[in-house]
Amino acid sequence: LDPVPSDIAISRAQTPKNISVVAEELGIHSSELELFGHYKAKISPSILERLEKNENGKYVLVAGITPTPLGEGKSTTTMGLVQALTAHLGKPSVANVRQPSMGPTFGVKGGAAGGGYAQVIPMDEFNMHLTGDIHAISAANNLLAAAIDTRMFHESTQKKDATFYNRLVPKKKGKRTFTKSMLKRLEKLGIEKTNPDELTPDEIKKFARLDIDPETITIKRVVDVNDRMLRQITIGEAPTEKGFTRSTGFDITVASELMAILALSRDLKDMRQRVGRIVVGANQNEDPVTVEDVGCAGAVTALLKDAIKPNLMQSLEGTPVMVHAGPFANISIGASSVIADRVALKLVGKPKAAGPEIESGYVVTEAGFDFTMGGERFFNIKCRSSGLSPNAVVLVATVRALKLHGGAPDVKPGQSLPAEYTQENVELVTKGAANLCKQISNAKQFGVPVVVAINKFETDSDAEVEAIRKAAKGAGAYDAVATNHWAEGGKGAVDLAEAVVQATEQPSDFKFLYDVDQPVEDKLTTIVQKMYGGAGVEISPLAQKKIDMYREQGFGKLPICIAKTQYSLSHDASLKNVPTGFTFPIRDVRASIGAGYLYALAAEIQTIPGLSTYAGYMNVEINEDGEIDGLF
Ligand code: ADP
Repeated sequence: LDPVPSDIAISRAQTPKNISVVAEELGIHSSELELFGHYKAKISPSILERLEKNENGKYVLVAGITPTPLGEGKSTTTMGLVQALTAHLGKPSVANVRQPSMGPTFGVKGGAAGGGYAQVIPMDEFNMHLTGDIHAISAANNLLAAAIDTRMFHESTQKKDATFYNRLVPKKKGKRTFTKSMLKRLEKLGIEKTNPDELTPDEIKKFARLDIDPETITIKRVVDVNDRMLRQITIGEAPTEKGFTRSTGFDITVASELMAILALSRDLKDMRQRVGRIVVGANQNEDPVTVEDVGCAGAVTALLKDAIKPNLMQSLEGTPVMVHAGPFANISIGASSVIADRVALKLVGKPKAAGPEIESGYVVTEAGFDFTMGGERFFNIKCRSSGLSPNAVVLVATVRALKLHGGAPDVKPGQSLPAEYTQENVELVTKGAANLCKQISNAKQFGVPVVVAINKFETDSDAEVEAIRKAAKGAGAYDAVATNHWAEGGKGAVDLAEAVVQATEQPSDFKFLYDVDQPVEDKLTTIVQKMYGGAGVEISPLAQKKIDMYREQGFGKLPICIAKTQYSLSHDASLKNVPTGFTFPIRDVRASIGAGYLYALAAEIQTIPGLSTYAGYMNVEINEDGEIDGLF
């Protein structure tokens, strides 16, 4: 329709297929499907065993150039591309996307994966609750937080080691037995005893008392609401806590390390091990204390046993979409799950024995933020976890973002665009195309072919689009194609889909940007110089102290996630286009040991957003039939 209606109006106007039909079309057996109503289902990872002999399908990553605050359409392009591949070119494909947090949905961003005629439906179900994975993460995270504080409370109120030990390892039916995590803790401590009655007083003390230094605790409680009032709180105020108060705070659920673990785990066993490895803080000797030490890893993983199964939904054109995991894009990887990618790649892959007449299908997934963040982490962190590597990268560019980089005034959500954006200006586009060229060369550093998707807006002129095409080809893109899926659905992305199919046939020479065995300082410098184009890093004394501590604790050989702005290649959002020569500040370094990376902060990052005076929730209404309005 012209004009294109709102996302929710488009979503509601389409009658979705029953999800079991979508599953069947993708080759999922009914025994592998758990229905959640008519339009959502969970998929069993046992598909991996059944299809073990299949080759993987083609793996495509959608990433972005340095965007404007309006977003340049990565999600929209992901959806448009799979709609074109499956519904228009007859090539089976799956889009793998993140589950949105309800914080931004009711805050500033609104909901949706994609928009216009390229989105996941039903949009309201996608944006709220889905199948409860985020709630499960909240429950698991908060169990852990409660376990840590309660353990400290008991340790502090029960002064005698023997009494404390007796309560920690109680006699049941006259017999005292260690739990599995207790046995793991004993092994870690080098105590070679499995009979709880044989521990010496010294061993009892060493084993039973975690002696956590409250100042070092990194686990906060979480909630999936932009509730800024919970940023800092004092716990333990009730008289029953006997003065055991502590200042702590809340993060938004998707910032929980458990969410990053959900995204990066290969299977349930891997998840259980990662949960056990999470470092919750340090003891008085500065040794790391883990979730395994707290004795909580089994229960935390048990709460995630359903969350680990990918969710199946559909695009506006009835093609399959897996929605799974949604780690915070600034301090975490901002990508959907490894498990969903592995399952989808097997489902669209052909049997190894099949001849050339049978083609493999495509899995298209997205990396949040711009390529220097989402893309870099996708390769250096997610691909390291999954063992997979993409056959092609689609880099989404827009005329409006390149105009911004070329020198046009800033744009802000909710405000009308300055004239430079609505009138043809090839000069601005050509100047700003330097940003696109740098991001192409960033993506090419991983040895994978790059297709530029020029996401078309109504006001873009042919000459502007052509200027982008020319610049992209000149910078070594395999192809650069204009795409109009937002207004036309899959039909508008057929050219892009054809280019992507061809790009995935090209030889690739996948390589990581850095070797994890390099010192942390060198890994940081490599990312800053090779991805951001900076001169080097300046590590603050605090960050250096933390780097030295992590090295000491044996965590120096992990990949690194750098939290910075996505609005510049550098750390400074005001430096547009291709800034060079800057020194990149590393203010702090933190660790997500269970997820398997260190993260370095270039700025103070808010891990629970707030709500504005006029917030998204004010638009939301529901009628007597249960139809929801105003999600966008
Ligand atoms: P990203 O994933 O890069 O943040 P999205 O795909 O979410 O970007 O798109 C950002 C916003 O812009 C969404 O509201 C989307 O509907 C809208 N949008 C995307 N592409 C177009 C287009 N070609 N024309 C108009 N609006 C668009």
